[in-house]
Amino acid sequence: MKLDKKVAIITGGGKGIGRAIALRFASEGARVVIADIDYDSAMKISKEIGGSSLALKVDVSSKKDVENMVRTVMERFGRIDILVNNAGIQTEKPFVDLSVKEWKRVLDVNLTGTFLCSQAVAKEMIKKKNEGVIINISSIHGYIPRIKKVHYDASKAGLIMLTKETALELAKHKIRVNCIAPGIIDTPMNQELLSDVETRKKMKQRVPLKKIGEPEDVASLALFLASNESSYITGAVVPVDGGLSLKP
Ligand code: NAP
Repeated sequence: MKLDKKVAIITGGGKGIGRAIALRFASEGARVVIADIDYDSAMKISKEIGGSSLALKVDVSSKKDVENMVRTVMERFGRIDILVNNAGIQTEKPFVDLSVKEWKRVLDVNLTGTFLCSQAVAKEMIKKKNEGVIINISSIHGYIPRIKKVHYDASKAGLIMLTKETALELAKHKIRVNCIAPGIIDTPMNQELLSDVETRKKMKQRVPLKKIGEPEDVASLALFLASNESSYITGAVVPVDGGLSLKP
């Protein structure tokens, strides 16, 4: 068991990539907290995992929700070993039509949410003097530009620097912070895009490994980064993209 009795919070753990991470961590002995704005999905996964897991309704962009989450987890388990900042949202809009409201909502969830969760959890890890792991889910579009996603891609670029700076600052507390940059993964977030047979075929062709990623592909890396196998790795940004980011 690679994560025996570790306490792991996974934000947005009710669906897609977060769900796969929650199931994988639980199968390696972790006590998993699924913190999702969609409580029904979080509950479903928690029931699937069984006794050692907890489902919480949390909007990661709300400081109050995040503080409640950390308090509840500390009361229930007495420690936090792993935080996966996975919750994220995306919309598509040409830059000139993007409203401040839409810009803010995406930045609030994807970037500020990660800041709030990381800060609240790191404080507890430091207080308890336990070694800790934080994993941020960015995107290859945190460093590869495209059109109509400036708000999402700017938030994901922000996560990369947030990872590096927190890795540097928290290293003295034995807290490691790393970042995963997925390419195109088959999740509810991409349902609309990938349900079109032609688009799916085209996307697959663009990937050097000729495969759309599965949430489990990301979960495998998350497990490695959460476990002691990666004990000398911090501040890293690792793509899980079948080689997509290698292409011009
Ligand atoms: P997903 O299928 O949409 O699942 C995300 C989960 O997070 C959903 O249950 C969602 O609830 C929840 N969530 C949304 N806003 C939240 C908030 N404010 N607080 C807490 N939970 C919230 O997404 P995914 O594709 O698994 O993506 C997971 C992460 O990977 C995201 O950060 C995403 O940007 C990143 N990523 C994904 C891909 C990809 O190809 N799928 C590629 C690169 C990066 P609702 O459904 O109710 O909104």
